[in-house]
Amino acid sequence: MSNGRRVVRAILFILLGLISPAVFSAPVAFQWLEVPYGELSLDDVRSAPASQWQSVSEGETLNRGFSDNDFWLRVSLPVDKRNRLLTIGYPLLDEVSVYWMVGEQVIETHHTGDKLPFNSRPISHRNFVFLAPTSTDPLTAWVRVHTDGSAQIPVSVMPSGEFLAKEQASFGWQAMFVGVVLALALYNFFLFTMVRDTTYLWYVMTVLSTSLVQLNFNGLLFQWLWPTLPWLNEFVTAPLVGAALIFALTFTIKFLSIKQFSLASYRLLWVLRLLSFLILGYSIFVSYHSGIVLVSALAAIGTPMVWLMALRLWSKGQALAGYYVLAWTPLLVGHLALATSKLGLMPRSLFTEMAPQAGVAIEAVLLSLALAYRINRERKKRQEAQDHALVVQREANLTLETRVQERTEELQNANQLLKAASLTDGLTGVANRRRFDEKLGEEWQRAVRHKQELSLIMVDIDHFKKVNDTLGHLIGDDCLVAVASVIDNEVQRSIDLLARYGGEEFVVLLPTTGSEGAGVVAERLRVAVETCPVKVSDGTTPVNLTISLGVATLLVTQNTGPQELIRRADEALYRAKTGGRNRVVVWCDSQPTTVS
Ligand code: GH3
Ligand code: MG
Ligand code: MG
Repeated sequence: MSNGRRVVRAILFILLGLISPAVFSAPVAFQWLEVPYGELSLDDVRSAPASQWQSVSEGETLNRGFSDNDFWLRVSLPVDKRNRLLTIGYPLLDEVSVYWMVGEQVIETHHTGDKLPFNSRPISHRNFVFLAPTSTDPLTAWVRVHTDGSAQIPVSVMPSGEFLAKEQASFGWQAMFVGVVLALALYNFFLFTMVRDTTYLWYVMTVLSTSLVQLNFNGLLFQWLWPTLPWLNEFVTAPLVGAALIFALTFTIKFLSIKQFSLASYRLLWVLRLLSFLILGYSIFVSYHSGIVLVSALAAIGTPMVWLMALRLWSKGQALAGYYVLAWTPLLVGHLALATSKLGLMPRSLFTEMAPQAGVAIEAVLLSLALAYRINRERKKRQEAQDHALVVQREANLTLETRVQERTEELQNANQLLKAASLTDGLTGVANRRRFDEKLGEEWQRAVRHKQELSLIMVDIDHFKKVNDTLGHLIGDDCLVAVASVIDNEVQRSIDLLARYGGEEFVVLLPTTGSEGAGVVAERLRVAVETCPVKVSDGTTPVNLTISLGVATLLVTQNTGPQELIRRADEALYRAKTGGRNRVVVWCDSQPTTVS
């Protein structure tokens, strides 16, 4: 047979075992009697009239709810050579006494219950298990049960071999349950220490407390944790259930962020939690007996209520509530299965008995999954926020860069304009005195390096005062602009520079130009101005203007400076003026000479 088929067969076997009532136990038929607490002895009970006895048939469980009375059970065992075990399968019963009788004789007596130390049990087991004495005659077990809690009395009798086989399966489930729960609790506790989100801590507390409730119902807490302190049993069940409710409700509030989604649900959970607190305190300090009734009722009402509330939240679009409902459902189904079996609507089986515990385990697993989903969701949200922030930042940077670029360009343009303005004459638009000084310095240096000639023409408008006086300053300005434009038209080489020197005086700097060439240029300027009357804006007759020009040329050496060139040009100009104006005087060799 292949491994796969073997596994399938094993799984089927286990599942069938779980749902088959026969595998779980061999409930026997017995008679029972309910009498006031402590009032009847074994002899009284034995002599009670047959009419007072009631019967529980095979497969049924005696369940009397919460009752203060004594229960007497009469279980008859036919002769059997095998060892047999009588089991009372509810470990929270306070007092359990078994009297084994053969005929009229009591041959063995046991007094135990969860009010006595664990070693009062003849067989160390979480349930009450009694070995039937060997006898060749039929046996009768007289059992007295008394309890403050729920009076559930499942009775079974089975051969010890069969008991052992079932016990293995049952204990295996218990061990697996403890393993799953501990692993999840530890894992989520570690998550809590890392993430510091209290939801994980509440989850751990919920899982641990609900598991403790289960282990307590199975009698394992007493067996494992405080076998010598039976008085603790009395105080444990109600507070444990209360604490489990408080933790589960707090976890629910946190996990589902209920306040954001529904204030009414939040208030409801709050009230349930407050009630759990009150009942918890009540069961410890006032009355354990009524405390356990109250806490059971609260759990029975609260659990489906919370489930329904989560269902509503889920339908409203809270995705986490879906996980929650999913996790809560097996637990509810488990309890439902147990309840229906207790009511006799469903046969008692390992499935019905283990269902609540399996529900707790599945709930723990699914909620852990939900918490993982929650981490993932929050991580995604964080990632999205980060990405968004990054995009915004990138856009901001880009805008900033463009702005800076724009501003820089604006600034550069403004600087250029400013520079141009600072070097241009505002009225005529030709270079100003500053620009001329700069250019003269540069050209002087260049001429020194290359031992070249440098010429300068100094221009002065003749009788300009008269223009101003007769036509006014504004027309004088127009004339200045016109003369500058005429001269500018005549100065053709790009390395030459026309500048306004001051008032109505202009200079023309001619690099690498000898005195002859400069004389020619000066003469051209003179003729141009003379032959080009200025049309003034008011439409009257054009103004005839002339200019006088002084030209100086130097073969530049280290020994002289640019001032000498200016001085000579100025002197030549002076000569032109004194010589009659409208003429060019060229400084030649050592003295100025009139050209025309
Ligand atoms: P000349 O040079 O022929 O000896 O006689 P002039 O009348 O031109 O005498 P000078 O050169 O000494 O006078 C310069 C005059 O030019 C003085 C001033 O009235 C005029 N002037 C100087 N700058 C400006 C200006 O920017 N605008 C106007 N409208 N007139 C100016
Ligand atoms: Mg002048
Ligand atoms: Mg003048």
